[in-house]
Amino acid sequence: MIIVLKPHATREQVAQAVALINEMGLKEHVITGTERTVIACVGDERYKDLGALASFDFVEAVKPVLAPYKMASRDVKMERTVVPLGGTLGASVGGRRIAMVGGPCTVETRSQTFAAAHAVKAAGGTALRGGAFKPRTNPYSFQGHGEKGLEILADAREETGLAIVTEVMSLEQVDLVAQYADVLQIGARNCQNFNLLAAVGEQRKPVLLKRGMSQTLEEFLLAAEYVLARGNDQVILCERGIRTFEDYVRNTLPLAIVPELHRVSHLPVMVDPSHGTGKSYLVEAMSKAAIAAGADGLIIEVHHDPAHALTDGAQSLNPEQFKDLVASCRRVAAAVDREIP
Ligand code: PEP
Ligand code: MN
Repeated sequence: MIIVLKPHATREQVAQAVALINEMGLKEHVITGTERTVIACVGDERYKDLGALASFDFVEAVKPVLAPYKMASRDVKMERTVVPLGGTLGASVGGRRIAMVGGPCTVETRSQTFAAAHAVKAAGGTALRGGAFKPRTNPYSFQGHGEKGLEILADAREETGLAIVTEVMSLEQVDLVAQYADVLQIGARNCQNFNLLAAVGEQRKPVLLKRGMSQTLEEFLLAAEYVLARGNDQVILCERGIRTFEDYVRNTLPLAIVPELHRVSHLPVMVDPSHGTGKSYLVEAMSKAAIAAGADGLIIEVHHDPAHALTDGAQSLNPEQFKDLVASCRRVAAAVDREIP
């Protein structure tokens, strides 16, 4: 941490700041310039609130040197993390291969889920998404089939070999969902449910962490840190769009976060262009853009009959559209030295 004092801070004020820094168990290194004094703090800052120094009226700024997230940061690990997804198709996220995850928003029926699974597999996807527990904004909306939905997903894995990605919404569901799923999804609405993040950090299945709709990049990585800090190093970051003033789309999909996350973190980054746009006709273009921006995988809603989908039909692709999307993404992947099997 670097403490920048205001111009003309007195020697007594410098001593006052140093006393507080020492009280926190840190050593100081005072740099006296011609214009102003800067104090560098040395030591483990993690449990200290150095921001409190800003309460002195002679302090201009308190600036962190290292990112507040440690395990998620490239400061501690330069090589990229590759997360195996499970299933029997050798699916993983973070290597040269781009993971294509597809499936319905919600597991509605066995035949609907199997239709999506076969379509995803036929197009070259390696994992099936589908919600059994659904976080619905409206309490009267369909909430998902719960364990029955998980059973259907597990049967679809049995039949196709696809890894299963499904959401866990609460602490009590973690063990149950982990029994069936290969990857636990934490939804955008739960991205700062710190007890839930810690609980999925305690188990050993990969976690697909969706960015909250008003979460900054730093808050997003600190949420990932909750999982990593509990010993689960299999975290996949997923941008799914944020809320802005714009209303021609359901959410605004900020793709600059992909290269920025890669710059500051070693974790793999996926993009969800379905929730990121809310419009099926925008999904293919944003998928290609995401891959061009360096995304390690895409998660896309696929339904055999979007017009009759119980949830998110407007943003769901039919099997034919998903097949075309994968084919065009394959070309973009090749252009950026990646591969879609
Ligand atoms: C979903 O994947 O269906 C979902 C609810 O996503 P999000 O949490 O990003 O809204
Ligand atoms: Mn959805």
